[in-house]
Amino acid sequence: YIFGKKKATDVAHSVWKHVVRRGDTVVDATCGNGYDTLAMLRLVADLSGKGRVFGMDIQEEALTNTDSLLTQSLTPSEKELVKLFPTCHSKMEEVIPKDVLVRLVAFNLGYLPGGDKEISTVSETTLLALEAAGRIIEPGGLISAVVYVGHPKGREEFEAVQAFASGLSTEDWVCCKLQMLNRPLAPVPIFMFKR
Ligand code: SAM
Repeated sequence: YIFGKKKATDVAHSVWKHVVRRGDTVVDATCGNGYDTLAMLRLVADLSGKGRVFGMDIQEEALTNTDSLLTQSLTPSEKELVKLFPTCHSKMEEVIPKDVLVRLVAFNLGYLPGGDKEISTVSETTLLALEAAGRIIEPGGLISAVVYVGHPKGREEFEAVQAFASGLSTEDWVCCKLQMLNRPLAPVPIFMFKR
């Protein structure tokens, strides 16, 4: 039940479940501490070992945290399905093989929880990454972004993501946001469904 979830990331995970199937390839564009990466792997991992998660982050610390969460939580063969890259998400097309169809590209914007708050996603590269995601996502797929609006920089990035989603063609995309009306500072999930 999506609307009963309290956290924006849980709301996003619930929506992913309706889109992602076992065996799919998905992208975590902001690994951070790895909770989204793990949730994604649990959706795609299947017995034939086909599902894949490509994860990226610009901070070594984030990739180390993600790697240890995955080691704690997965079997070695499940963990092999996740590939992590120390790459800016605007360059995702350089690490994802050209011939794969991507079902989900997920962003959880902002800074690394428990890390350096000065190192955060910024609108300019976020927009480039959204454009790249739009190019690699397959029909029926989803771009998901959880955006923080409780501080000025986050608010600015929210406006940029919202403008990007609002500008996508109605022929190819269905875009919506799930803003909590009685919690105006809560992070906002924005969803872009590719037709
Ligand atoms: N998904 C994470 C989780 O489940 O723990 C939380 C992500 S955290 C809010 C945002 C992350 O984005 C940080 O770890 C930060 O280093 C990373 N980041 C910032 N700019 C980036 C960029 N240009 N490309 C990729 N990752 C970036």
